[in-house]
Amino acid sequence: MSVWTGRGAARLRVDFIACDGRGLCAEALPELISLDDWGFPIVTGEPVPPRRLADARETVRACPMLALRLEYGPGPASRPQQA
Ligand code: SF4
Repeated sequence: MSVWTGRGAARLRVDFIACDGRGLCAEALPELISLDDWGFPIVTGEPVPPRRLADARETVRACPMLALRLEYGPGPASRPQQA
């Protein structure tokens, strides 16, 4: 389930050029962010659940490299279906 924020569903995105791969975000949001073998974050691209949106915003603010952000867009029901 996604939450209507006025701007659409919120999804986590990572700027891998800026990210230092230390994994602070994965420690803060383990159910939304995992780490690859090199310690870089893996996000699903799915909308952040409403109950975790405040924590996701705080984790974005805490990223020391400003590499994590929330993007707002259509929810899953609005995505085009693939054949
Ligand atoms: S907290 Fe920021 S810099 Fe650290 S791993 Fe996550 S996205 Fe990268």
